[in-house]
Amino acid sequence: MSVSEFDLIRRYFTRATGARADVLLGIGDDCALLNPPSDRCLAVSMDTLVEGRHFLTGTDPVSLGHKALAVNLSDLAAMGAEPAWATLALTLPEPNTAWLQAFMEGFSALAAEYGVQLVGGDTTRGPLSITVQVHGFVEPASALRRSGGKPGDRLFVSGRVGDAGLALQRARGPSIPVDLRLQERLDRPAPRVALGRLLAGRASAAIDISDGLVSDLGHVCTASHVGARVELGCLPVSPAVAAECGLGNWWYVLAGGDDYELLFTAEPAQVEDVLGRCREAGHQVQDIGCLVADSGITLVYPDGRESKETPSGFDHFRN
Ligand code: ADP
Ligand code: MG
Repeated sequence: MSVSEFDLIRRYFTRATGARADVLLGIGDDCALLNPPSDRCLAVSMDTLVEGRHFLTGTDPVSLGHKALAVNLSDLAAMGAEPAWATLALTLPEPNTAWLQAFMEGFSALAAEYGVQLVGGDTTRGPLSITVQVHGFVEPASALRRSGGKPGDRLFVSGRVGDAGLALQRARGPSIPVDLRLQERLDRPAPRVALGRLLAGRASAAIDISDGLVSDLGHVCTASHVGARVELGCLPVSPAVAAECGLGNWWYVLAGGDDYELLFTAEPAQVEDVLGRCREAGHQVQDIGCLVADSGITLVYPDGRESKETPSGFDHFRN
């Protein structure tokens, strides 16, 4: 994208977001110059969205701009970090200015909400692909790792699970119109940044649910060398997802993914304090089970039946 590349950068990226005091030099030079605080460490994460793989062709670009940043902020949230900066690598089939304008509208609105400054990136031509990197700050001793869970810790999930998976399934299927509230959960996930900050130093382990509850809980279990019991009847779900569960279809809540809710654990002695603070701050969190010493995830169905079906047991429903 020879000549117009620089026009695009000037028009769409240079002043896309507000200016932060800790950015000595933003977009326009060979590197950005950033001034991280001395008492906290940098939390860094990156995610790529590829057309046809992570989003359907023709997805609304405003939503894509939102989601590309949101999924990254969700990783910062899961670490208990405060968002600060972002970089953006865009590969575009053509310099489509209407698309770019809309994409940056979604990106910038979410960046403004979290005080994030876009400080650099790269723009190339090719099949549509969007990579965002985010940088945040967290007190080193308070960062929420996947590895801190212990047997006996309670297991919690924020918000609701299964909506995005159900929306995607319906969007792909025969043309039943998708409920707007479900579609919103797929297109415009709200990263749980404030909850992550609240949990920093208080929760024993945390992860954000991107690949599905069972799969992501599996990562916590592996990293923490524990197993887990999940009470399916306690999972927070919308009426539409509850209806699917009622039909015995638990896939959306367990493996649908794209939820971007926080899954976290707390020592029994910390539970009251954590839940009290969540209530006070208006964060919806639900106790859904506990960690256990024996490895593996046990699903406890509402009728009391228990199953040790592994996450891969759900994989054939995917794609
Ligand atoms: P270089 O060739 O030195 O790597 P570029 O010409 O790729 O620099 O980019 C010029 C400036 O524009 C840099 O500051 C870069 O970070 C910024 N930039 C390029 N593409 C993007 C983008 N998609 N989003 C944000 N900043 C970008
Ligand atoms: Mg250079």
